[in-house]
Amino acid sequence: MKKVLEVKDLSISFETYGADVQAVRGVSFHLHEKETLAIVGESGSGKTVTANSIMRLIPTPPGKYSGGTILFEGEDLTQKSEKQMQNIRGKDISMIFQDPMTSINPTMRIGTQIAEGLIKHQKLSKKQAHMRGIELLKLVGIPNPETRIRQFPHQYSGGMRQRAMIAIALACNPKILIADEPTTALDVTIQAQILELMREIQERTGTAIILITHDLGVVANAADRVAVMYGGKIVETGNVDEIFYNPKHPYTWGLLGSMPKLDSRGKELQAIPGSPPDLADPPTGCPFVTRCPYAMKVCEAHMPEHTHLSKTQQTACWLLDERSPKVEKPESAFV
Ligand code: SF4
Repeated sequence: MKKVLEVKDLSISFETYGADVQAVRGVSFHLHEKETLAIVGESGSGKTVTANSIMRLIPTPPGKYSGGTILFEGEDLTQKSEKQMQNIRGKDISMIFQDPMTSINPTMRIGTQIAEGLIKHQKLSKKQAHMRGIELLKLVGIPNPETRIRQFPHQYSGGMRQRAMIAIALACNPKILIADEPTTALDVTIQAQILELMREIQERTGTAIILITHDLGVVANAADRVAVMYGGKIVETGNVDEIFYNPKHPYTWGLLGSMPKLDSRGKELQAIPGSPPDLADPPTGCPFVTRCPYAMKVCEAHMPEHTHLSKTQQTACWLLDERSPKVEKPESAFV
């Protein structure tokens, strides 16, 4: 399948009170058309900064693109002017957020917000945009779209606002949809409906999706491939089966071990002890070194290279070096 996005060695830092916070440190990944790539990790791992950087939504300053490229259709988005990006955002690459109210304008009718992109990017007339808006609301499962299209966001329920945000994001048939924790604020039933809706739309339109989440249940349901981020780096990538059934990085083991399982009722969930690294002064070697139960001397001083374990799985851990002691995935990491 064709690659629609290729991020190579991307680094992003923020200058805050004299410190240089290195939020994203040499991140590389790609996205194929019609595929869903989940980027997972704890808060502060760099996943949202990575997503925002693709849309060039990092305020500069204090943010700084300190290295690397974001190739979309062969062109480097880090080199585009703000004006050029305005023609890409909403048309070729769209984003949906956890809280629709951060991206939906509460003072504008839903129909007007859907029409905006259609009039700007697809040069539709107001009437055509209105008709397309009704189709889109129908597509995302909003009942009575002819009436709902004239309403304001506060007249929608939380789940409906999320659907409306998806309709706005998809109005121009973007090639890439970035979904940042799109279901976190919703109850479980609505969450499942929104994930199903995204899957249906992807099948119909072929849009590639980057799904940012800390919820491994969502990943298992919705993703084709997974990139695990920790301390501003990608520490493991693989397809869903590889990450859930054959993970090789101790941080991925920890994430899976902290996930509730069918037989864990009444048992305490296993949190990963310790806290994430200070990215104003990140470790020289492996970012997980201070929390990893298998850390060795070499982990402190040298960042491990990514080892290719299959066509799709890559892991950055010194345990994969042939000179390291053999360590098996702990029982608690099984799902
Ligand atoms: Fe642990 Fe070392 Fe592997 Fe990092 S490189 S995850 S510290 S064993």
